[in-house]
Amino acid sequence: MRIDILTLFPEMCEAVLSESILKRARGAGLIDIRCRDIRPYTLDKHHRVDDSPYGGGYGLVMQAQPVYDCFEALCAETGDRPHLVYLSPAGQTLTQSKARELAALPHLALLCGHYEGMDERVIEEIVDEEISIGDYVLTGGELPALVLADCITRMQPGVLAADEAFEKESHYASLLEYPQYTKPPVWHGRAVPDILLTGHHGNVDAWQRQQMLERTLCRRPDLLEKADLSAADILYLYAFPRGRELPFLFEKLTDAAERYVRTQKKVSPTSLQRKLKTEDYALCVRLLDALEARGVVSAYEKGKPRDVLPDSEQGET
Ligand code: SAH
Repeated sequence: MRIDILTLFPEMCEAVLSESILKRARGAGLIDIRCRDIRPYTLDKHHRVDDSPYGGGYGLVMQAQPVYDCFEALCAETGDRPHLVYLSPAGQTLTQSKARELAALPHLALLCGHYEGMDERVIEEIVDEEISIGDYVLTGGELPALVLADCITRMQPGVLAADEAFEKESHYASLLEYPQYTKPPVWHGRAVPDILLTGHHGNVDAWQRQQMLERTLCRRPDLLEKADLSAADILYLYAFPRGRELPFLFEKLTDAAERYVRTQKKVSPTSLQRKLKTEDYALCVRLLDALEARGVVSAYEKGKPRDVLPDSEQGET
């Protein structure tokens, strides 16, 4: 993949691109990132690339002509028209899934603004999309462009040790990563969780999955709505009061129950309990009620009517 960064400060970008993993990835030919200086394209005899805004206001606005000619020169040189992203606080906020989408393109160009921004007309003329790296304002688009280039680079095959390296990470599957530990086993009286020292991969995987779920629930419950969760994941989240308060989790669990129920001739709360491996009878009754409301099961198929529920389970939700 090739990325061209169009900027007034190519050296600032090169400095970051010439260190650590980005440097190695470029050196190994896993990604081709180049910086292109916008300034030489200006037709102004004093090499100006900006001017004061029409309508008044403070600061300087980058002019359309040098930006346009810089991009056109790039297109002429490469013989294609790269997808052009303008880094802007007014763009869509960058997410892991947006980065993944851009990482699949053969050629991407990143346009960095400076000063007060850029003449709107050149944005309309050549920019394909605007991306923001967060709800705050920086002095220029260089850092945002480098953030995006870094995020895309580590997704390129071969850049990290194994594909798994980023697939289990925060945000990849709309879940935050589990906590990580390294040597020594005890530091400042704090021990590494025992399970990580057992060498039992199955248990370690299960523990890590639970940590991801718990962490996301505590810190970023909003992410769970988009996450791909199994019935077992949701039941784990239900062990926490906060989990039970998220209406979309019940919806997802109802979806899982629906997939199972559609393969059965007859279901009861007990058979659903067995399938979901839960002791929560009342929850299975609620799920079947929800499926009845969806028209998936009839009252008869539910088997046990509500009024035969033991008292202890009647009021539970
Ligand atoms: N006056 C503009 C801000 C200009 S900031 C406004 O209010 O929208 C100068 C440049 O920094 C922008 O052109 C953009 O390229 C970059 N920039 C600043 N904050 C950014 C952010 N959060 N995400 C992406 N780019 C940003």
